[in-house]
Amino acid sequence: MMLPGVQYYTGQVLPMAEITAVAHDAGARVGFDLAHAVGNVGLSLHDWGVDFAVWCSYKYLNGGPGAVGGAFVHERHIGDRSLPKLAGWWGQRPDIRFEMETVFDPIATVESWQLSNPSILTMAALRASLDTFDRAGGMEPLRKKSSRQIEYHDLLLAEVIGDRVETITPAALAERGCQHSLRIRMPGVDGRAVHEGLERAGVACDWRHPDVIRVAPVPLYNSFTDIHRFVGILDQVLDEAAR
Ligand SMILES: *Cc1c(COP(=O)(O)O)cnc(C)c1O
Repeated sequence: MMLPGVQYYTGQVLPMAEITAVAHDAGARVGFDLAHAVGNVGLSLHDWGVDFAVWCSYKYLNGGPGAVGGAFVHERHIGDRSLPKLAGWWGQRPDIRFEMETVFDPIATVESWQLSNPSILTMAALRASLDTFDRAGGMEPLRKKSSRQIEYHDLLLAEVIGDRVETITPAALAERGCQHSLRIRMPGVDGRAVHEGLERAGVACDWRHPDVIRVAPVPLYNSFTDIHRFVGILDQVLDEAAR
């Protein structure tokens, strides 16, 4: 089975460890699409026993469009030569790569899934971003800050915006990352116009068909002041839309 780690529309974090255990009991192999999870929530893929996972690096990892994707394969599968694999020359053991033998002798890690060499310019951007994650202390302190930002954002939305907007992201911290999926609940007000108003005011957020605005205070580079400013702007944009 393959599931998202974080659901792209609602922002729900799936209980990956529990899902993996239940699926394994049923004899299934489990993979996760971590496009919206990596760099957002803590991941312990090895300890959870996840069989495989993939992710892109241009969302929370800031790699930019076209940056290399990532893959995880649990070490219990690494030696399994029966797994289907596109055998590329960069998956070949580096010490024999240029011997040009006709037999594929893979690197003994997930690197054996590499097909070819990556673009250095996009790798440089990704490297700079990952260095910044390291300087911030990694995911643990970032998630700690994120948890407070999530609560602060919820609090301000409740106090300032009230029932004009509904959050469809689960309320429990364990079930969410920094994404808040907002739905406008004002009769006669088109959510898309609200999204456009936010963008015009300089907020980088996202419209998802049919009716959701995704906003994400990201702990690596968003401050609590940003959240305060965002809710103030949303309040203004909603007032204008209601007129
Ligand atoms: C962004 C995203 C991806 C990554 O897709 P690319 O082919 O790397 O652009 C995968 N899954 C989901 C759910 C995504 O949102």
